[in-house]
Amino acid sequence: MILPRFDVLTPATVTEACALLAAHTAAGVRILAGGTDLLVELRRPIIPQHVPRCDGCPTHPEGAVFSTIDCTMWNSEPLMAAGGSVRAAVKPPAFLLSLHKLRDLRGLQKRTDGSLRVGACTTITDIERSRDIREGWTALAEGADNLGSPLVRNRGTVGGNIANARPAADTAVPTIALRATLVLRSTSGIRTIAAADFPTGPGKTIINPGEILTYIEYPAPAKYSGSAYHKLANRKALEISTVGVAVYLALETPGGPVADVSVALGAVGPKPLAAASVGPVLLGRIPDETAINDAARAAMEDARPIDDHRGSAWYRLQMVEVLTRRLLKTALARAEGKK
Ligand SMILES: Cc1cc2nc3c(=O)[nH]c(=O)nc-3n(C[C@H](O)[C@H](O)[C@H](O)COP(=O)(O)OP(=O)(O)OC[C@H]3O[C@@H](n4cnc5c(N)ncnc54)[C@H](O)[C@@H]3O)c2cc1C
Repeated sequence: MILPRFDVLTPATVTEACALLAAHTAAGVRILAGGTDLLVELRRPIIPQHVPRCDGCPTHPEGAVFSTIDCTMWNSEPLMAAGGSVRAAVKPPAFLLSLHKLRDLRGLQKRTDGSLRVGACTTITDIERSRDIREGWTALAEGADNLGSPLVRNRGTVGGNIANARPAADTAVPTIALRATLVLRSTSGIRTIAAADFPTGPGKTIINPGEILTYIEYPAPAKYSGSAYHKLANRKALEISTVGVAVYLALETPGGPVADVSVALGAVGPKPLAAASVGPVLLGRIPDETAINDAARAAMEDARPIDDHRGSAWYRLQMVEVLTRRLLKTALARAEGKK
């Protein structure tokens, strides 16, 4: 993999990280966690068809030059031929700020109020292996189970998966359904934001330059509650989801009406989405077959799928209904202690 030139900053504390980030924002700096998304994004193409084509810059005034070496093309923002499609070149950062020394941001802490605080640099493997998460926040554990491969899960972090803001991100979807709060820190202080409000579009979030995602806080699950996540993909591993659905369901009492419900959808819109239409349909009802079918149909109203090589918009929409129905039943069984 050929990478552009950059210097790596390695702060030892979060305070130092925020200061370095602020000091290098003007020069161009990106945060590096596990690097499984970022380094792929920054790599320089090595396959002939993927090599950038400079259509004219001070270094290549003749234009139509293929080159993997640094040139002023990044400043002149020429077009870049990538696997047949043409996209605008993005200027690579001069600095990467590595989070690998920030031990405070790694690991899980179950709090006395029953909530869970997860450091942004906690690996997907650590999420997958946590007994606390599997028991209390099962949808998140199932998101981690389904992300990439063991190698990717060992390096990739939950903070990176959420901050990367891909519509299909396997831990972001359950994080929204479980109504987590994200804690962002910068030299100006700390701010918190609901996970559902964090992504704004593919690869885009409300994070400001100079801010670091430090923790993800998951509220305590209600007494009679359960959650579940399912990733539907064309292969069982190393595949991005065609549709991902996460569900959290709480009952007033076992066998009683629905006290709380939250559904999130992945890969059926420009960002992971909260399916807001489900709550009004299901809250206060006994979750029988009819109520669950109504709720699953309601989830379709929130999906905004597109056609692509993984599946058609029509297929994705049907799968939102099917998966929401199945997952509501799974979460219900878990809420009643049956699964
Ligand atoms: C082969 C392969 C398979 C994959 N399969 C899947 C899959 O099935 N499902 C899936 O969801 N993803 C998948 N991914 C994507 C990736 O592994 C995950 O998104 C991973 O969790 C990213 O975490 P990271 O620590 O590597 O992030 P990085 O690559 O280090 O960072 C990703 C982005 O987030 C930013 N960032 C990272 N941490 C922070 C922070 N604390 N605060 C602010 N910004 C931050 C970075 O600047 C960058 O923009 C795959 C990747 C590969 C290479």
